[in-house]
Amino acid sequence: MADLLTEDTLTETIAQVVVPVPTSEPYDYIIENNNEDVTGRIALIPIGPRREKGIILNTAQKSTVSRQKLRKIVKLYDLPALKAEFLSFIQKAADYNISTPGEIMKAALRGFQPDNSGTDVKYYRLKNTHIMSRLTPQRAKIIDILRQTPLIAHEVLKSQISLSALKGLIDQDIIETIIKTETHPYKTPDINFFTPDFGQDQSKAVKSLNTSLQKGGYKSFLLDGVTGSGKTETFLEAAAETFKQGKQVLILMPEIGLTDQVAARFAKRFGCTPALWHSQSKERDKRLIWQGVVDGSLKCVVGARSSLFLPFTNLGLIIVDEEHDGSYKQEEGMRYHARDMAVLRASLEKIHIILASATPSLESYVNAEVGRYEKVVLRERFGGANLPDIKMINLQQHAPPSQHWISQPLKQAIEATYEKGEQSLLFINRRGYAPLMLCRACGYRVECPNCSAWMVYHHSRSEMKCHQCGQKSIVAQQCKSCGATDEFVPCGPGVERLYEEARSYFPHMRCEILSSDHQENPDLFADLLAEIRLGKVDILIGTQMIAKGHDFPNLTTVGVIDADLGLGGGDLRAGEKTFQILEQVSGRAGRAVGKQGTVYVQSYNPHHPVMEALAARDRDAFLDNEAQTRLDIGHPPFGKLAAFILSAKDHKMLYDFATFLSTKQPAAKDITIYGPAPAAMFMLRSRYRYRFLIKAKRNINIQDYIRYWLKQVKIPSQIKFHIDIDPVSFL
Ligand code: ADP
Ligand code: ZN
Repeated sequence: MADLLTEDTLTETIAQVVVPVPTSEPYDYIIENNNEDVTGRIALIPIGPRREKGIILNTAQKSTVSRQKLRKIVKLYDLPALKAEFLSFIQKAADYNISTPGEIMKAALRGFQPDNSGTDVKYYRLKNTHIMSRLTPQRAKIIDILRQTPLIAHEVLKSQISLSALKGLIDQDIIETIIKTETHPYKTPDINFFTPDFGQDQSKAVKSLNTSLQKGGYKSFLLDGVTGSGKTETFLEAAAETFKQGKQVLILMPEIGLTDQVAARFAKRFGCTPALWHSQSKERDKRLIWQGVVDGSLKCVVGARSSLFLPFTNLGLIIVDEEHDGSYKQEEGMRYHARDMAVLRASLEKIHIILASATPSLESYVNAEVGRYEKVVLRERFGGANLPDIKMINLQQHAPPSQHWISQPLKQAIEATYEKGEQSLLFINRRGYAPLMLCRACGYRVECPNCSAWMVYHHSRSEMKCHQCGQKSIVAQQCKSCGATDEFVPCGPGVERLYEEARSYFPHMRCEILSSDHQENPDLFADLLAEIRLGKVDILIGTQMIAKGHDFPNLTTVGVIDADLGLGGGDLRAGEKTFQILEQVSGRAGRAVGKQGTVYVQSYNPHHPVMEALAARDRDAFLDNEAQTRLDIGHPPFGKLAAFILSAKDHKMLYDFATFLSTKQPAAKDITIYGPAPAAMFMLRSRYRYRFLIKAKRNINIQDYIRYWLKQVKIPSQIKFHIDIDPVSFL
């Protein structure tokens, strides 16, 4: 009898599984007839009436849940176990962001599709089309989809089609299933494919990085190099060292638009392309990349922030390019800062991480100053190209005519640049034609009906659009405030209006605008970038999207239309962000040897510390000064911040709850709570919004404090409640 019992317990294990529901604790499940170690394995589990994917965190002999309530695992997928370091990353990242492990897991399993066991993939293919008669709309739709190409179930079912319709067609012999063995197409990088000659600074940097990589272990580097200094070539050398060790490399980029350029440089260096991972990658690519990352056959991924959660099996290095970029902060759904989470991941995996930037964030700058990160510096542009000259244009003295934005000196510079056969870039950080439509008769400003935001006028589409919620409307003729007709005028410039102005001054030049269409369509964007590089565009007009990272050798003149634009508002990083964007956009000028670049910065405030630092090329003095200010008031990185954002359709109930929440705040030393206060964006998508700001000293565990506070209340279901650790946006 006793023997029987032991045998029973031997073959039955309790698996503690991360589940895709909002809970911080794993759920217990039974695995029958199990003798192997299943920690880290991905399993199919029942949750309520559904079946979901989960990751086994741990196993135990016994559960605290009663035997009757325990359910069985449906199946274990035939995949290698995820590493203990990765499991720990899932938990720690959830903990830090006050999210749940299930949420992080969902991000980690995004490319995993259950049809795909190993490399054998079941496809549905059209077989007999001639026997088709009287099809239901669902079945007709399936046939339509499969007419182009065979697809896996997941891809078919995505277009709101039921599994039974699919099965029905198989029964009718119209569709058949085939098994294809698939692997990703990415080759192993050839580290000797092309070895560049390095400049002096580059050589030194490569040596520090690679010596350290050979030693192994966790280490953070700040690769601090002026624009055009060759940071990419430098970090690719660290990637080469990592490949040499047989390990994988993740290169994070802040924007999809930049991935192609890095991929091209990668191909030049290693003779093959890296895998690209971003929100717009095709399902099939994601599936193959995911598989390759897990089985270790894929050596490099270049990706946007979500690639950070890919379960690499043998990661050896993370590179965060343009580490200062605000796009690394995910602001919707699961909120996290990809750069900070990358550092967390590197520390848990005990590997190296390189943060690269010409304008490091104050956080990373301070981390390097105090020795938490090792700084590697590239002082000069590669090959002896000069940094651009910065010319401040005081708009008080050189005011453009009314309803115009290009000053006389800038206009002359563009003409002269064209004469030399070179290119100009005009930068204004505003999409559309005009940020505001105003009624001349009464001063009424057209607002979004759903948001505390003005409707932006888009001339190209003759429509008004809210950049917060996407609401569109036609341009009304009659003012709804005073009834006057035809009195609306566009106020202020956006890229489209600047384009119009440039066209009127320079009808002989080819002028291209980087529009929101490019933002939505990476292919269109890549085409435009190629045309610019080929010198086919004389004047390029764009927002911050064009300011970052791009390398246009023939571009020598940059005009900043409104340098003061980002300085207003209540953002603690306003100065830092403005400096970064101006320095970055300046960095597009004169990148090739022998082509001196010049940047014309139009400002009403040429003596603002940001403008003076920019003109004097004294970034460090500016950062030191910013650091001192933040130290004085206990702001990051010297103190911690977190925010609550509450929103609801019913204002009174939101206000009452926010006030109630405030009364429940636990008293604590070294923690200050501001709010509840109406958010700067008081209305968003028809919901009212309130914010709390929580400020704590550096040594305080702000997450524990918040968890304790929130235990005192139950958040009504009508209220959306978000916690934002280390907020970047204060809207
Ligand atoms: P950063 O990222 O620092 O702004 P890039 O990496 O874009 O600078 O480099 C600027 C230019 O110099 C690019 O055209 C790049 O290909 C070139 N370059 C940099 N390092 C080398 C090198 N060692 N050999 C050849 N070209 C290089
Ligand atoms: Zn809106």
